Amino acid sequence: MEQKTNGISLMSAILNNIPAEAGITRIEYEGPRIALYTKNPAFLHKNSYVISEIVSTLKKRVVTRTEKSIRKPESEARQALDKLIPSEAGPISYFFDDALGEITVEAGSPKALSQEAGFDLGGAMEKTGWKVKVRKAPHIQSTAIQNMNYAWKSGSDLREKFYRELGEAIFRPRLASTEHVTIKTLGGFQEVGRSCLLVETAESKVLLDCGIHPGTRNPWDAYPRLDWADISPADVDAIVISHAHLDHMGFLPAMFKYGYDGPVYCTEPTLPLMTLLQNDFVKIAQIEGGRLIYDQKDIRDAVQHAITLPYSTVTDISPDIKLVFNNAGHILGSATVHLHIGEGAHNIVYTGDYKYGRTQLFDSATWNYPRVETLITENN
Ligand SMILES: [Zn+2]
Repeated sequence: MEQKTNGISLMSAILNNIPAEAGITRIEYEGPRIALYTKNPAFLHKNSYVISEIVSTLKKRVVTRTEKSIRKPESEARQALDKLIPSEAGPISYFFDDALGEITVEAGSPKALSQEAGFDLGGAMEKTGWKVKVRKAPHIQSTAIQNMNYAWKSGSDLREKFYRELGEAIFRPRLASTEHVTIKTLGGFQEVGRSCLLVETAESKVLLDCGIHPGTRNPWDAYPRLDWADISPADVDAIVISHAHLDHMGFLPAMFKYGYDGPVYCTEPTLPLMTLLQNDFVKIAQIEGGRLIYDQKDIRDAVQHAITLPYSTVTDISPDIKLVFNNAGHILGSATVHLHIGEGAHNIVYTGDYKYGRTQLFDSATWNYPRVETLITENN
């Protein structure tokens, strides 16, 4: 079944494995994931083994989403949650993501909303008709997160369409049977800054990092050299960002300005950090009268195309490439990038910046990879 997990066979494999009580109404691609829409989210929440079994059969990422028709309007859903959430949870704020049908509850004390504390998350989903996620509220108001939420909210329709089309591109049948892979270095090799490399297979072109060289004003030395690979931003299928330093992601919004409209994969903490630094970069250029290679609109565009992934999770990012992020121990959210090409054909690990040895803030970088044929690493 694994070879034929696209299209109809994928859908029927899921439908055959799922009980009728789950209330599945449709199955759709959502970027690199498969989304099961349900009218009974509480059932799937209580019986999480149903989804686990599907995941282990299909070896794909599967998420559950609530059917739009059961989602209560925001004001009603807020009221329902206000009633359910105990005062011990501390100050609460909600973010409604219309594209995913997901409410993020930010709580001062998220422990009060855990299963151990007796909070009924499934019940909250049943009452609101939305998927409910809980996380810790930041200690101070974060404009980076507010900007990100605004970009997501204002682009909900676009994101919904983007996720679906991206899923169709990722899970399409492979066109070629060859498994060759080439790597072209477009910046950051034998120099510090503008890290960027292109991984190319018969099916896909993926950029790993997309940095600028902050120390130079000469454009030939400051930005990744896409011209060396004879490609334009529109030719790229996916961009993977290892961490939120400008020499690894400072050029990303410019890619969108000049025609890229594909996904940006990064970890969850990397996204707000990255937008914060890119916005600062624009502001400083405006103040200093420097060269503006993009503006806030392009940064927003990148956020609307971002797909955040947890560590240690295998994700299909093209018909022949799987991606896994692992902790790099360098800054918050920093990741090493592990690409698996084809069906066991080749493994590439691109470390980005990393640090061994535990610090007060981070665990040491992950070093234990089951198989690596090509290792690309920084050199101090
Ligand atoms: Zn760095």
